[in-house]
Amino acid sequence: MIGLISATAAGAAARDRLAAVWPDRTRVYDGPVADAVRRAFAECDRLVCFLATGAVVRLLAPLLGDKTSDPGVVCVDEGGRYAVSLLGGHAGGANRLAHEVAEVLGAEPVVTTATDSVGLAGLDTLGLPVEGDVAAVSRALLDGEPVALEAEVRWPLPPLPVAPQGAYTIRVTDRAVAPAERQVLLRPPSLVVGVGASRGVSEDEVLALVEGALREAGLSARSVAELATVDAKAGEPGIVAAAERLGVPLVTYAAEELARVAVPNPSDAPLAAVGTPSVAEAAALRRGGELLVPKRKSAMATCAVVRRPGRGRLAVVGLGPGARDLLTPRARAELRRASVLVGLDQYVDQIRDLLRPGTRVLESGLGAEEERARTAVAEARKGHAVALIGSGDAGVYAMASPALAEAGDDIDVVGVPGVTAALAAGAILGAPLGHDHVSISLSDLHTPWEVIERRVRAAAEADLVVTFYNPRSRGRHWQLPKALGILAEHRAPTTPVGVVRNASRPDESSRLTTLAELDPATVDMMTVVTVGNTATRAIAGRMVTPRGYRWQEEPK
Ligand code: SAH
Repeated sequence: MIGLISATAAGAAARDRLAAVWPDRTRVYDGPVADAVRRAFAECDRLVCFLATGAVVRLLAPLLGDKTSDPGVVCVDEGGRYAVSLLGGHAGGANRLAHEVAEVLGAEPVVTTATDSVGLAGLDTLGLPVEGDVAAVSRALLDGEPVALEAEVRWPLPPLPVAPQGAYTIRVTDRAVAPAERQVLLRPPSLVVGVGASRGVSEDEVLALVEGALREAGLSARSVAELATVDAKAGEPGIVAAAERLGVPLVTYAAEELARVAVPNPSDAPLAAVGTPSVAEAAALRRGGELLVPKRKSAMATCAVVRRPGRGRLAVVGLGPGARDLLTPRARAELRRASVLVGLDQYVDQIRDLLRPGTRVLESGLGAEEERARTAVAEARKGHAVALIGSGDAGVYAMASPALAEAGDDIDVVGVPGVTAALAAGAILGAPLGHDHVSISLSDLHTPWEVIERRVRAAAEADLVVTFYNPRSRGRHWQLPKALGILAEHRAPTTPVGVVRNASRPDESSRLTTLAELDPATVDMMTVVTVGNTATRAIAGRMVTPRGYRWQEEPK
């Protein structure tokens, strides 16, 4: 819950705007300000104070405990111009809240946490449990002092300015070790614990068995990624509760699947009960890895621990048609998550300022698609966090398919959708895609023209709205007129046609014309051409395809 506190009329007005936008996330604290701040600090996980920072500092100073548990606090000035992240920037969520509040109020977020200001990934924001002297190691990173990375477990991290050796260290480990001086431990989710149990096993018995196994093997419970078992035990209360207590998901597999996993210690009891000679070991090993703790038993439960093979991460990121505000927040986050960026040089230029310092950029020129795809997958296989970028949507006539054709199940793949050219152009033209539509690329570099022509003909016969990508280039003139000719066999010469060049880019232009009047010479590779169906109309200069509801049909 976000507590809202204000003192003045202007503050109350801004407060009410937040409360109206986030009715379920916020609570207004009325009454004397000092008392309201204290109550909110005790009851909420975040605060927005429409008060001077000085006043808030004085009120909160005696209440401050620990930065891992104190609420995050954001202050908004009387003029509503700034949302200042005052306390709990990372752990308390104040930095993010400052951005959100600023967005609602039209204010400027003010974030002074050093790592955020210089674009470094905060060690406590990597999404991994962290232990040790975060403050000292972060300061060393910021001051450019040598910080060494000791990765015992491969894990795809964002770029960190690390040196081969240093007085400070970041150790990536799932071992149950205590952090050394001037060291930060990052806990990758590298361990899978397989469990089996008889019906009615208690939560305490499962937990004791799992924790004992980890302890004896010298492994950290904070690196446990999941509990795994057989489908038949998916609802076993003791196992479900143990997973919850460990804060990890419970993953289950079919007995036949587990029966196929080679294990060192099969036995007859589970074979008779659930149909596989091994539950704990087989479930832990199902996705591969190294068996660190072979099956061990208590009265009613079994468990085994496996270290999963390190997996790299490939994010396939669509950048949108050009304008920065059509790049999604998720795409932006993935760009900052990556330590390696792969893309066409002109797209890299579009987003270079968003990358964290230290990101390795592998850019190449037009035409090197296969090579880019291979490079991106190879870098992910090495265990890196890779972002492969494309304009518009990276899955539409772009890099996603060649990359995924190369990728095996040994890397994680994340797709981030982008606004594709047909949609960007549609929004400029009006509502051309209001009914069924297709996209067709007129590039016959990789697709034989006969195939393209067959699809254009099918779209013409099916009366689909058609958006042509790659409509015309220096070497390809005749394809567009030919395709338009095929559509014209089924559509009136007056059918609206929208031509959009460089949608959302600085030199954007668009034209609404007709099948009969379109001059193909005005079309190039930066353009998409959208041809209406037989119902599409030009209305007030906009291209509109009716949705075909009966109530919208013109009277016969
Ligand atoms: N992945 C891209 C498409 C790549 S194919 C996307 O989803 O948009 C390249 C073709 O896309 C270009 O020849 C052009 O037809 C079209 N295109 C891409 N961006 C465009 C833009 N901003 N304005 C107009 N057309 C664009």
